[in-house]
Amino acid sequence: MGTSDPLKEYRRKRDFEKTPEPAGGVESSGKQPIYVIQHHAATADHYDFRIEVGGVLKSWAVPKGPSTDPADKRLAVPTEDHPMSYANFEGTIPEGEYGGGTVMLWDRGTYRNLKEDEGVSMQEAYEQGRIEIWLDGEKLQGGYTLIRTGGKKKPSWLLIKKNDEEADRDMDITLEEPNSVLTNRNLDEIAGA
Ligand code: MN
Repeated sequence: MGTSDPLKEYRRKRDFEKTPEPAGGVESSGKQPIYVIQHHAATADHYDFRIEVGGVLKSWAVPKGPSTDPADKRLAVPTEDHPMSYANFEGTIPEGEYGGGTVMLWDRGTYRNLKEDEGVSMQEAYEQGRIEIWLDGEKLQGGYTLIRTGGKKKPSWLLIKKNDEEADRDMDITLEEPNSVLTNRNLDEIAGA
């Protein structure tokens, strides 16, 4: 984990007196590594894709959300590491605070590192800019690839469904399964709570 605190940036951006988000800490889920996807109705609507690596949630903001169609290449903009406890967060961040808006826990599950057989750890895959994982989620299933594109200074990534038996070219999963996996609420119901 090194000597630097991977959650420093996360904490610097937030005032925990004002936001209901967890301050959290570096920890491991201790079993099969987890992933979550949060639908975040902020200034710009997006989905936050987060995977457990090294005791934190590596995170990307995906403007269009995930797709089950291998032909779709979804832009995934890296954001700061989040604490593991963020995986259970759903609620409203006050206006004026960082990320102000409503957060829904849209999907959750566990994943497998598909490059483990080649001796590539998740940390190495992340650093190399090519992650291949199998998701076992409540909504998403199957293989997904995250590929870093562009320069080191302003990296962006692409999130792409692998062409496997779980691929589905005929559905838009964000429209067909819009509600929370935690509470089954929609965004308006979470915002109004
Ligand atoms: Mn977000």
